[in-house]
Amino acid sequence: MKNTLELHQVSKVFQSAESSVTALLNVSFELQEGESCALVGPSGSGKSTFLNLCAGLEQPTSGRVILSGRDLNNLSEDELSTVRNRELGFIFQSFQLLAPLTALENVLLPAELGGDYSAEPRAREWLKRVGLSNRLTHLPSELSGGEQQRVAIARAFINRPGLIIADEPTGNLDFETAQSIRKLLFDLNREEGTALLIATHDATLAEQTGRQVTLRGGQSE
Ligand code: ADP
Ligand code: MG
Repeated sequence: MKNTLELHQVSKVFQSAESSVTALLNVSFELQEGESCALVGPSGSGKSTFLNLCAGLEQPTSGRVILSGRDLNNLSEDELSTVRNRELGFIFQSFQLLAPLTALENVLLPAELGGDYSAEPRAREWLKRVGLSNRLTHLPSELSGGEQQRVAIARAFINRPGLIIADEPTGNLDFETAQSIRKLLFDLNREEGTALLIATHDATLAEQTGRQVTLRGGQSE
């Protein structure tokens, strides 16, 4: 099996005039194709920083992040955007849909950013798969939290990335809605063979993954 993601001795220090915070210290990690893994640990332990580094949204202070065989440090901004668009889907606690766009337009966006302007049938199919065929032209403000997260999941999967990264994906949802989102994520992980890396406080969600990694004070146990 190939690794879809590798971290080698990654550290991240947030430096400002008054203070320096070591959010991650010498963390190494590997995730195989199709694998699911939960990142757990107390608030402030570095989970979001870890995910943002994996997604190339932040640069490590030292160490290397390798996504689908590419060292993110060696990529230009353009190359990084392309790799991120093709290889990765990101799901946030707060959904992060674009407010002026309909559900269908939000799902289409990553395909269009990647230069694919004929993806509408695929976007409709994804919205059907997440149970939202009857919400295509709704705006985010017209959708419930669970529905918005379903749109975000369809958006994350539309380019069929090898890896989905989710930061507290059930953190803003009630128990029953969270249950349906958990089921959807793991059904898609199995059906699509997409690797899942999920930071979560949701013990039920963490238990369903193949492996759990605990962070404490920026170090993995
Ligand atoms: P978690 O997601 O586990 O709650 P984070 O990765 O958000 O943890 O934060 C880890 C540590 O890094 C915390 O002490 C936090 O205050 C600090 N931190 C995170 N982002 C920044 C930033 N942009 N600037 C300064 N400190 C940060
Ligand atoms: Mg966090």
